[in-house]
Amino acid sequence: MPTIFTKIINGEIPCYKIAEDDDFFAFLDINPNAIGHTLCIPKKEVNKILDLDEPTYMGLMAFSRKIGKAIEAAIPCERVGMTIIGLEVPHVHVHVIPLHTMKNATFQHKEKLEPKEFKEIAISIRAKLK
Ligand code: AMP
Repeated sequence: MPTIFTKIINGEIPCYKIAEDDDFFAFLDINPNAIGHTLCIPKKEVNKILDLDEPTYMGLMAFSRKIGKAIEAAIPCERVGMTIIGLEVPHVHVHVIPLHTMKNATFQHKEKLEPKEFKEIAISIRAKLK
């Protein structure tokens, strides 16, 4: 059965999309640690990060860097951090998170946002993509 993230890539489940290319896809996390929290995923459905073939792993990191740079330009923050966990969704994803304090890295504190706010955040990040 396809993962929820494959369904997002295929447009079967809605998302606040940031970017996509032939191999990777980025969208806002629906339960964000901070405003601008974004997930970067390979279109190839693989469960664990270390099981990715090396070109896909390197490509995902390059794609996440590009998205992180746009987040850094769009969202005022101390710095942008990246985390890979994967305990909830068995489809590799890099969390790209604007950090203000350590609490944004803990996955304990969550921001509650309205759809309109998600849309505006996605627009502001997309506007900074080069
Ligand atoms: P983890 O697998 O523990 O790295 O976390 C999975 C992340 O996916 C969590 O931060 C969720 O909020 C996020 N997530 C789950 N479903 C969706 C969805 N439909 N759209 C956006 N983000 C999601």
